[in-house]
Amino acid sequence: KIACITGASGFLATQIILILLDRSWKVRACVRSQAKADAWKAKFPMFSVDQIEFAFVPDMQIEGSFVEAVKGCEVVFHTASPFNFVFKDNEKDMLIPAKQGALTLLKAAKRESTVKRVIFTSSFAAIVDPHLDPRPGHTYTEADWNPSTWEEAVKSTDPHFVYLASKAHAEKAVWDFVKDEKPAFSVTSIVPPVILGEAAQPFTSMVDINQSSRVLWRCVDVPEMPATPAYVCVDVKDCALCHILAAEQDIAVVNGKRYLTVGAPFTQNDAAKVIAELFPDVASRLPPPSPYHEYYTYSSAQVEKDLGIKWRPFEQTVKETFTQLLNTEKNS
Ligand code: NDP
Repeated sequence: KIACITGASGFLATQIILILLDRSWKVRACVRSQAKADAWKAKFPMFSVDQIEFAFVPDMQIEGSFVEAVKGCEVVFHTASPFNFVFKDNEKDMLIPAKQGALTLLKAAKRESTVKRVIFTSSFAAIVDPHLDPRPGHTYTEADWNPSTWEEAVKSTDPHFVYLASKAHAEKAVWDFVKDEKPAFSVTSIVPPVILGEAAQPFTSMVDINQSSRVLWRCVDVPEMPATPAYVCVDVKDCALCHILAAEQDIAVVNGKRYLTVGAPFTQNDAAKVIAELFPDVASRLPPPSPYHEYYTYSSAQVEKDLGIKWRPFEQTVKETFTQLLNTEKNS
């Protein structure tokens, strides 16, 4: 059983890889450079080349760039997508790579008869309507779509809005591909909200840690509580497991499904409260809570039913994330 995974240097992908290896999958890990592969291998020297091998895809927008990487694979996980809020060109840096990367991967998978499933990492970004935020009274489910147009995203001066749109347009392109090209493999989309939890991937300091690990750190040493990026979160281990369960569950159950994988509601206030309780030394570094307002709710009943996932408690996720952030601060 060989699984190919893109974005292998990332926060989520590293966690997926560790679970795959634990479940005796052989992994082909796609990274952009030798340096990323070397850093990964240095962090996890216990895995042999029979367990994990690296494939180099420096530019996933180039047609055919994943052809070699998916050779002989049964399952392909596509997690790679630009995820940052500091970029110059909305289209070139975010929208096009997100969408084109997914299409390049799907086309390569279609040429490879061994591929039985593609598991695509979407985002709550593809579900939430940023025009209506915080939308009290609405329950978000897999039936919802972020309606932002490509043109709106190109013109936007809000990087967060552009990221949300990049994920929505990438996921729409995936489902359009399925409709138009009718590939022999099944496609399942995992739709995570803010992913928290201990970062397993190689990183050296707070500066190069992944985007969502910074969400909790943003409420330390600031005068005011920062805005909450999305009112829903999931633990990285649960999110990774959802990807793998989607690859292992009966294909008839998961084929064509989107799974909204929310483990808990989330606000910066909730997180700060848990941090203050668990890390009393840090309490004085936290700002007062921001004023309460109502916001949307969600349902992840579909993924709970189909994949039988049980969510880790929010407090445990915050504890593990923050313990690591404090250690990183100490050692930076
Ligand atoms: P990371 O930034 O840790 O990982 C992103 C990965 O994508 C890295 O391996 C990165 O490679 C790769 N990547 C970024 N841009 C490109 C590009 N232009 N071409 C090729 N590869 C690229 O983020 P996460 O692990 O958090 O995110 C993984 C996926 O999960 C993404 O699709 C993201 O949108 C999605 N997601 C994340 C959430 C979160 O809160 N973390 C929430 C919902 C969805 P490199 O290391 O070389 O930069």
